[in-house]
Amino acid sequence: MWSCPYCGNHSGVKFRDRNLKGMLCMHPDCGRFEEMDDQTFGGVDQSEEEAWSFA
Ligand SMILES: [Zn+2]
Repeated sequence: MWSCPYCGNHSGVKFRDRNLKGMLCMHPDCGRFEEMDDQTFGGVDQSEEEAWSFA
């Protein structure tokens, strides 16, 4: 399970665009973004339907 490196929250959404990918923390007091490489990003347990993509 993903956990936010800044606040420890487990609620986040995948985010991906042309040159950035990672998880966006959904905690209302955090909202930080954790950048990931392809392998880490691919291992995050979340369906593609829930992912945000602006590619
Ligand atoms: Zn967070």
